[in-house]
Amino acid sequence: MLDAVKPETPVTADEAQTSESHHVGPSFQPTHPLALAPVTSPPHTVDGFVKEFLAELNTNAGVTLSRSTVNDQYLSLARTVRHYLSARWLENTRKARETKAKMVGYLSAEFLLGRQLGNALLASDLEEIAEQALAACGIDIATLRAQEVEPGLGNGGLGRLAACFIDSLATMGVPCIGYGIRYEYGIFRQTFVDGRQVEQPDSWLTLGSPWEFPHPEHAVQVDFGGHTETYVDADGTSRSRWIPAWNVLGMPYNYMVPGYQNGQVNTLRLWSAQATQAFDLPTFNSGDYADAVRAQTFAENITKVLYPEDSTPQGKELRLQQQYFFVACSIRDFLDRFILDGDVTTLPERVIFQLNDTHPVIAVPELMRVLVDIEKLDWDEAWAITQKCFAYTCHTLLPEALEVWSTELLGRLLPRHLEIIYRINDEFLAEVRAAYPNDELRARQMSIIGEYPERAVRMAYLATVAGSKVNGVAELHSQLLRDKVLHDFSEYWPEKFTNVTNGVTPRRFIRLANPGLSELITETLGTGWLTDLERLEELEPYAEDAGFRDSFVAIKEANKAKLYRLLQARDGVVLPEHHLLDVMVKRLHEYKRQSLKLLHIVSTYEQIITGKVAADEVTPRTFVFGAKAAPGYRIAKETIHLINSVAQVVNSDPLVKDVLKVVFPANYNVTLAETLIPAADLSEQISLAGKEASGTGNMKLALNGALTIGTDDGANVEIRKLVGDEHFFLFGLTEPEVAELQAKGYHAHEYYESNPQLKATLDLIASGHFSGGDRGLFEPLVSNLLYDDRFMALADFESYLDAQAKVDASYVDQDAWARSAVLNVARSGFFSSDRSMRDYIDRIWHTHPLR
Ligand SMILES: *Cc1c(COP(=O)(O)O)cnc(C)c1O
Repeated sequence: MLDAVKPETPVTADEAQTSESHHVGPSFQPTHPLALAPVTSPPHTVDGFVKEFLAELNTNAGVTLSRSTVNDQYLSLARTVRHYLSARWLENTRKARETKAKMVGYLSAEFLLGRQLGNALLASDLEEIAEQALAACGIDIATLRAQEVEPGLGNGGLGRLAACFIDSLATMGVPCIGYGIRYEYGIFRQTFVDGRQVEQPDSWLTLGSPWEFPHPEHAVQVDFGGHTETYVDADGTSRSRWIPAWNVLGMPYNYMVPGYQNGQVNTLRLWSAQATQAFDLPTFNSGDYADAVRAQTFAENITKVLYPEDSTPQGKELRLQQQYFFVACSIRDFLDRFILDGDVTTLPERVIFQLNDTHPVIAVPELMRVLVDIEKLDWDEAWAITQKCFAYTCHTLLPEALEVWSTELLGRLLPRHLEIIYRINDEFLAEVRAAYPNDELRARQMSIIGEYPERAVRMAYLATVAGSKVNGVAELHSQLLRDKVLHDFSEYWPEKFTNVTNGVTPRRFIRLANPGLSELITETLGTGWLTDLERLEELEPYAEDAGFRDSFVAIKEANKAKLYRLLQARDGVVLPEHHLLDVMVKRLHEYKRQSLKLLHIVSTYEQIITGKVAADEVTPRTFVFGAKAAPGYRIAKETIHLINSVAQVVNSDPLVKDVLKVVFPANYNVTLAETLIPAADLSEQISLAGKEASGTGNMKLALNGALTIGTDDGANVEIRKLVGDEHFFLFGLTEPEVAELQAKGYHAHEYYESNPQLKATLDLIASGHFSGGDRGLFEPLVSNLLYDDRFMALADFESYLDAQAKVDASYVDQDAWARSAVLNVARSGFFSSDRSMRDYIDRIWHTHPLR
């Protein structure tokens, strides 16, 4: 590795072994011309690929082709593809270091990557070569693709967004290092037992993870606990220092983040916790084997599991340990690897750390601690640097989702950080009081420290005070942040607030997920659209072209057929062709309102079985749900049970069997999304207005030609504006109407009383029809809707059903529907995460591509 051959002060092997430095260079001086030449890729030929693949199989897996298992073959294929990427990877890392380019440090507790193989083959332009090479070895590449277990290192939208963003930055040639956590167990694997969700551990590492490169030589020590003390240093300055009580080691694992066929390969660095002292030998020798590894078990717990929460913070000590662990590792790592001359004052020229929600916000006092306590900068200079190095993305509007840490816990785990936060707050409040004299209420409202129900640090406020910029993730969301959640801050610092509407990577969610559509687009527009997605607008005229629409419809049908084959194999369900495919896939949460979707299904069913509507008058539909519920979220889990119970009754009722089907494949993840989304006709985006920050599922579905039925919420607003009202089914209260209704007092029960169809629907559920006569089973869900209904499902019911009636009517004219679907694709190019990245660069980061 040429990268490492940087002549440094020679050190002997023994010195190198004992050195504390993270930059122990090799002492050798290579002379062989090969050792001095740049690292090169293997030849891009079938023969070259076969040779590399067999070498991997024989030397790395240690088997012959004839004796190899599918897993051996998959691992060897993955490693072979790696060979093609590593030359550029090493080169890019060197370049970023040498040119001192400003980098994006994307700090995120979650990266929901999805499978890697397909993307790596696409990025390195090896799809055909690899397929032919494996075929020549007698192997079907599809079998190996299916062998990959996706790393589920995220919950949903937020983690997937991070994965889309690093893909886009690599594709745009912008140097970025993603920093996160290598959870040993990612998001749980969902199974259903008698219709109820049962969580299984996701042991994604068991069969080997060929995409990661461990770097034990870059391990970082992370301290916890203890106390602080003040002392006077040599030049008479009074300083603080932290005397921690315990520590762990952060072990980095690198992952390649290849750009799309552009030679750029960025890095994702995920941290794994290990004990600083793995093993207590005297204890072991005395025979207490469990005690001997206690420290190790304790340390490794930190990165053992992903918290399976979405939209509600956990508030657990281990969670704070995870957060501090990964940001402390990441900041130390960046300084060690990129600030080689040790001049930390140059940091703002070298990096902008983007905080993906509040999970990494403890990085703010951590950087202050490093600059003040270790680098001995004075406070004001350190604060000026810190403010330039961070920017904050807020991802929510739900007050209960805003993260807070009690000062009791923070002070116990990170005593020095709490002191730093107090000082940041004192200086900030002094500014506020100066700006608004005699307005103590405002100062109290803006304080980083909240007092009720307990004294706690408001992480969103800390991020807002520290960040150079604060952004929301869709126009409406950013507006509501300014007007409501962070109102006082936006008044004080109007220029700090900005919007960047989310996006999704078209490489994964169009090209890989929907090869049929991608081919049609390339045939029609030529190449280039995949990295310039606004070019999809050139498809507009083809919406009027009957031949094009026929091709488009044929692709949609083929995608449905593929999905149905998968669901039959996976879940044993057989689905009818030619139904409207109605898809609601996203985390299970009350604000997303899967229950409203369910009310529509039950209402339709009720109308048929009571004879209000004849089955043959109904537009045949198949409803697909995909959703995991947080294991401790009772109502969400009951909703899953109800969906499965409704599915069972509806699917086996002969009265509706030709027109209604409900399916709920277990374990919705990125891999399932990639097959489901391209098959969808209708995209359900039905959150209560003002609750969904953006949504990205809505974008994936529109880009694959599904029409949206949705509320005026999140990025739906922008989707509707772009695709046009006549190609979007809008319903429901608007955000101001929600606020008004809330203010005057919302009584869900009144909607039940005044709408007979709503009453019949809820009564059918309450009657035990879907629970074998058991009236008690779903009573809590029904009561929740009738007497609480925080997210106003009942208020939007009528409007939702009206919009669904329009969907039914529209779908009858298949040709008009196809035209709308094509226009959805043509007008959704804005939702590429490449565009999101350009916006971050222009409005927040001010970084540049390497070339
Ligand atoms: C895109 C995506 C999400 C986010 O979906 P929303 O509808 O925006 O909530 C969640 N999970 C997976 C697996 C995804 O791919």
